[in-house]
Amino acid sequence: MAATRPTTASSAQTSAQRDWVALENKYYQHTFKRSLVMERGEGVRVWDANGKVYLDLVAGIATNVLGHAHPNVVRAIKEQADKLIHVSNLYINERQVELAEQLYNVSGGMRSFFSNSGAEAVEGAIKLARKFGRQNRGGAFHVISMDRSFHGRTLATTAATGQQKYQDTWLPLPEGFMQVPFNDLDAVKAATTDKTIAVLVEAVQGEGGIFPASPDYLQGLRRWCDEQNLILICDEVQAGVGRTGRFFSWQHYGITPDITTMAKGLAGGVPIGAMLAAPRADIFEPGDHGTTFGGNPIACAAGVATVTTIVGEHLVEHAAEMGDFLGGKIDELAARYAIITGTRGMGLMRAFELAEPRAQDIMDRAMERGLLITNAGPTTIRMVPPLILQRDEVDEAIASLDASLAAL
Ligand code: PLP
Repeated sequence: MAATRPTTASSAQTSAQRDWVALENKYYQHTFKRSLVMERGEGVRVWDANGKVYLDLVAGIATNVLGHAHPNVVRAIKEQADKLIHVSNLYINERQVELAEQLYNVSGGMRSFFSNSGAEAVEGAIKLARKFGRQNRGGAFHVISMDRSFHGRTLATTAATGQQKYQDTWLPLPEGFMQVPFNDLDAVKAATTDKTIAVLVEAVQGEGGIFPASPDYLQGLRRWCDEQNLILICDEVQAGVGRTGRFFSWQHYGITPDITTMAKGLAGGVPIGAMLAAPRADIFEPGDHGTTFGGNPIACAAGVATVTTIVGEHLVEHAAEMGDFLGGKIDELAARYAIITGTRGMGLMRAFELAEPRAQDIMDRAMERGLLITNAGPTTIRMVPPLILQRDEVDEAIASLDASLAAL
């Protein structure tokens, strides 16, 4: 029998001539519902395979913090690729140490462990908390997390995620996880037992619909964890890297968690995760945890370029300013359209609530007009644009959104 040779594209066909939707249907597992084929991006714009341009307020779901093809990130990746793509964690790679140093400085003294994704970063945080429980709380291992939270798609992070729709299919999930209502300190106190080791919280819930914690709540959680010798884990996978107008969203609250997790924006779109530990929780020893790819030279070179650009160009402050501007414009829309029942957000992490489950309709209409926005459930529209967004681009996005709402 003749061997089948793997082929990608027939040389005679251009990208636009291939039926990517049919090919995806044939070759890719049916995990995602999608039909738009993206080809390239620049700044806050992306182009599809037919050459249509979109203003991108999704940014790879809060990931392309510097927009698309930022020259600093592109240059860093190219230069690093010429030198060293991968060495494993058997050896030190310079970019990894440089990125850890930057995060140490912006976090106020936390040391890093790098992985490849947000879920892996949260897994690492759970393992670290369990080790703390073994050493300091008689083997306690239960983690309290919040209703409506999202922490990833691995089994443990699914168990930590406070949304039944992500859990039901995978029962039984690993033991030791429970959820309580968000922004309810008494609920955390009531759920704490001698088996509890950690409280896991997003200071601003992302996938759940952009809900910021109240200051009393987050400060109360910090105090409760101190009093009870628990580990406070803040999941910054979505809200981190400047998105909310501070480098970490917990910095708005005047607290420091024992562990914080990052991913998405950290390397400007190159896969990376990070789990940062303050001295109290910094107890991993050689052999406890590991990864082949995590903290790889390419990802860390992109990370160093991203953080250097964010800090050097004051993009955290810019995100705060643009976020206020975007938030104000969304409030104006809310005053004109009865279907909008509420607006929420912090910095460039914004959402509005709908009276009816029409988020998909609005997204489809916006897409027709060349605007990419996303949702968080059927009644919430979410916008998590690049931090480089400018006022005229906000105006353009709002005009498209206005027309999309009017067309409902
Ligand atoms: N934690 C939070 C707060 C997230 O928003 C996400 C993803 O949306 C994750 C964890 C999981 O990250 P990843 O998809 O990179 O595994």
